[in-house]
Amino acid sequence: MRVFKMKKGNLVPFLRSLKEYGEVWGPVKKGDSYVYANTDPEEFDITAIRTLIPAKKFFLPQKDTFLKFKKGGWKENLNAPKRVIFGLHPCDLHALNIYHEFYTRIYEDPFYLAKRNAAVIIGLSCMPDEHCFCHLTDTSTIEEGFDLFFTDLGDRFLVWIGSPKGDEIIARRKEMVEETETDDIKDYIEWRKKREKSFKVDLSFTGLPEIVSASYDSDIWDKMGAACLSCGTCTMVCPSCTCFDVEDEYDIRAEEVNRNRKWYSCMFREYSLVAGGHNFREARSERLRLWYTHKLVGFMSEYGEPACTGCGRCVSYCPVDINVLSVVRALMGEKNDAFWAKTEVKQL
Ligand code: SF4
Ligand code: SF4
Repeated sequence: MRVFKMKKGNLVPFLRSLKEYGEVWGPVKKGDSYVYANTDPEEFDITAIRTLIPAKKFFLPQKDTFLKFKKGGWKENLNAPKRVIFGLHPCDLHALNIYHEFYTRIYEDPFYLAKRNAAVIIGLSCMPDEHCFCHLTDTSTIEEGFDLFFTDLGDRFLVWIGSPKGDEIIARRKEMVEETETDDIKDYIEWRKKREKSFKVDLSFTGLPEIVSASYDSDIWDKMGAACLSCGTCTMVCPSCTCFDVEDEYDIRAEEVNRNRKWYSCMFREYSLVAGGHNFREARSERLRLWYTHKLVGFMSEYGEPACTGCGRCVSYCPVDINVLSVVRALMGEKNDAFWAKTEVKQL
């Protein structure tokens, strides 16, 4: 992989110059969280850890009209806005790779692919906070799935080229980068050591699929089910959750129908409701068990890796402390500060 360096002061002019590749999006502060915004790159916060909603929203929007029906026919909607998406950390790039596998491996989803092919993906290094655990899910570094990747070394960035598109971008902006020297690589190695030491979550994920499988009948699922609000936040913020529902939206006067897909959640009661009124997962405990066994066991056997990239979003945003860390601690019998692990909660 080729690597150049770029002076810190060149970042904003560089990102501004990418408008020819489409709208430029990056992380900005909003309230207590970060969101992706299409604004001047000067506003991007390169210290942002995780955005509230991950980059999956660019490739599977929360609501996406993929077919349009009119009297006499229908049309696929393969429109895809050209975008440059800046600031994805290694965990989120791994999640996009999971998305790519899911939407292309067995059946190539043209609506996803149109959006993916129209995007330039630019990764950015990060320092972990107290919720990050990508060092446990083997997703703390990234080698593919981006066009460019920036490593922040303080006064300069290392710029890694990850695709022919990334190569073209740099080749056309040669004046903004320089060749790396021995000191740059030395500083990079020091930076990596510092980052590895910064992870605060200490937990073993060894043998996790077997432990989750063997815990199928554990009463821990009932404890969590009693606390869970079925709000679906965990699935909405998770960068690797792929589920959607399909609905038809009618406009009788225009004699037009939009067929949309909308984000959906296996935490919702209706998710497992079938014709005739039977529900395969009526209890919240059953829906939680589905999510965790799918992420940590099922995905592993099908794709060879868990569908959790350690981004810490479920840790940050579940209102009742149900997240990969508290669940793994509970299943492994380790000390667990989640309130549902310590109290008897009455099932509603
Ligand atoms: S686990 Fe937490 S975030 Fe997920 S549905 Fe239950 S309460 Fe909501
Ligand atoms: S399960 Fe939680 S930590 Fe893992 S990728 Fe999803 S939101 Fe991030």
